[in-house]
Amino acid sequence: MDNLSKEQRSYCMSRIRAKDTMPELIVRRIVHRLGYRFRLHRRDLPGCPDIVLPRHRKAIFVHGCFWHMHSCRYGQVAPTTNRNYWGRKRKGNVQRDQEELRALRHLGWKVLIVWECWTKDVPTLERRVQQFLTNI
Ligand SMILES: [Zn+2]
Repeated sequence: MDNLSKEQRSYCMSRIRAKDTMPELIVRRIVHRLGYRFRLHRRDLPGCPDIVLPRHRKAIFVHGCFWHMHSCRYGQVAPTTNRNYWGRKRKGNVQRDQEELRALRHLGWKVLIVWECWTKDVPTLERRVQQFLTNI
């Protein structure tokens, strides 16, 4: 925890505050159903991954399409008010996501990004998660 910068820490805390969102609960339920044990929001890892499987050294992020600018139609919405503010904020998120992904991989972690829109199709998502967890 102590090797995080102030900015990283506050980002971490904001993620933890938002932790019980529906998409995240859906993903947790899937991982649980597949029989894996996991931990939530490891603060000592870059980006505070939402779901962490320490034994497998795998981490899952659940990203909101809008906030992380997914290529789907939800992620490509441009707000009509305060456009510059949201634009900066979202681009900042994307840049941070990339940095954290790189940092995690550098530490030997395998990472899966689950997009919020994927959680609308649970069977397909479950296949994706299973594939990620069974691949070495
Ligand atoms: Zn999406």
